[in-house]
Amino acid sequence: MMRMTVLASGSKGNSTVISSSRTRVLVDAGLSCRELLKRMALAGEDPAQLDAILITHEHQDHIAGLAVLARRLQIPVFFTEPTHRAWVRMLTPRTTMTYAKWLEQVQREKEGRAAAIAAQASSDEPGAELASIGVASIEAETASTQPESAVEESCEQDTEQQADLPQRSDPAELPAVEYFHAGKNFCIGDIDITPFTIPHDAADPCGFVFEAEGIRMALATDLGYMPPNVKAALKRIDVLLLESNHDLEMLRDGPYPWSVKQRVLSRVGHLSNDATAEFLQNEYDGRAVWIILGHLSESNNAPELARLSAEQALSGHPTLLGNRILLAGQASPMEPICL
Ligand SMILES: [Zn+2]
Ligand SMILES: [Zn+2]
Repeated sequence: MMRMTVLASGSKGNSTVISSSRTRVLVDAGLSCRELLKRMALAGEDPAQLDAILITHEHQDHIAGLAVLARRLQIPVFFTEPTHRAWVRMLTPRTTMTYAKWLEQVQREKEGRAAAIAAQASSDEPGAELASIGVASIEAETASTQPESAVEESCEQDTEQQADLPQRSDPAELPAVEYFHAGKNFCIGDIDITPFTIPHDAADPCGFVFEAEGIRMALATDLGYMPPNVKAALKRIDVLLLESNHDLEMLRDGPYPWSVKQRVLSRVGHLSNDATAEFLQNEYDGRAVWIILGHLSESNNAPELARLSAEQALSGHPTLLGNRILLAGQASPMEPICL
C-alpha cells in the first residue's frame, strides 16, 4: 500500500504526505504549522505518525512552517546541504543596514533612553526599570516552557517565542538534520527515495521518486522546463504530481510585473500548461494511474484550462486514456490517493 495526500499545492504553500504501510514522510512544509496540522486532521493523516520532513527547495511556499512543525513533532528534516545552508541564511540574515534604517534605529534608542530616564525619575525605587525587564523575561520563559495540550496553542507559542525572543531561540534550530544528494537514493523506513535535480531558481532544488512495496510515486513541481534527467526520473510512475503552473496567454496578459513574468517563463521558473502537455504527449510513458496537476497559479491559470490541456495531450494516445487526472489546489487538502 502507498498513499499520497496533497495538503496544499500552489504559490501560497505546498505540502504532501507520502505513506507506505510502515512509514510516513511529509514533503515540504509551506504553510504555517497550525494550518498544516489542521489540514492533516482534515485529510485523516496523523501528524504524530510522521517519520520525517523532506524539503524540495528553500522557497517560502515550501518551507514556511518547517522549523515550527519539525520542533513540534520532534522529527528529522532531510535537505540537500546547499538547500539547508540557504534556508539557514534566510532565517539568520546578516544585518546590512541602510542609512535610513540606521537613522530610525538611532531615533528609537534615543526615545527609549528618554523614556527609561523618565520612568526612573517617577519611580520610588531606583532599580524599578531593571526589575520590570526581569519580570517580563521570566514571564516569557514560563510561557515557553508551559506544557500545552492543544496543538494550535503549541504552534502559536513557538511562533511567538521566535518573534519575541530572537536572542534566545535559534530560528533555524531543528531536532535533527539529514543530508541527501540529488541522484543518490536513500531510505526512510521502508520507502526508497530518489531525489532528482530540477531546473529552478533555488540553491539546489529537487523532485522526488518514492517507492515502496512495488509502487512508485513522484513529485515534480517548480521547474522551468523538462530536462532529460527529469523525463528519465518520471518513468514507471504510478502516481505523478506534476506542475502545470500557468497558461502562457494568461501570464502574458496578466497582472504580474514584467520581471516576474520573465522569471516564471524562464528555464528556472515554472512549467506552463503547454510544457506539461508537451511532456505528456511526447515523452510520458503512460504508466500512471493518477496524474495530479499541481502548483497551478491562481493569477495566471484556471483549473479547467490546465485539465483540458493535459486531457488533450493524453487523448492523442489511445493507450493513455486510462490515466485519470486530478487537480491539486491551494485552499484545501485533497482526498488521499491510495494504491
Ligand atoms: Zn513553489
Ligand atoms: Zn520554488
